[in-house]
Amino acid sequence: MSENNVFARIIRGELPANKVYEDDEFLAFHDIDPAAPVHLLLIPKRHVVSLQDVGPEDAAWLGRMMALIPKLALENGCRPGPEGGFRVVANSGDDGGQEVPHLHFHILGGERPWKPK
Ligand code: IMP
Repeated sequence: MSENNVFARIIRGELPANKVYEDDEFLAFHDIDPAAPVHLLLIPKRHVVSLQDVGPEDAAWLGRMMALIPKLALENGCRPGPEGGFRVVANSGDDGGQEVPHLHFHILGGERPWKPK
């Protein structure tokens, strides 16, 4: 059965998104309700609900996904170096505050002050 959440629909092209990156495996776009000057979402195109659903067999693609984070952050306005940087958040499940049931990393940054979700 195909997913019907908002991110699955963005992957299928059924909903628009302000995309900053796309390849065969991953998609990144601006969060519609930003909690920081830079607020991106990075998602896998494969069907994964949350970090509760990954295991050692997922290490390779998850590693490629993690390695995209600094590149996307710096290319989209996060400041480099120790005074800059960014925050990465992955909400998982109800207790983790996850609203959209498709794995995503929030990438938050930009000059402070800002209060992350
Ligand atoms: P979660 O609480 O970790 O599941 O975060 C879901 C995020 O998706 C929230 O920060 C929302 O603002 C964001 N969001 C929901 N719908 C859209 C959309 O259509 N485009 C971009 N971001 C969205």
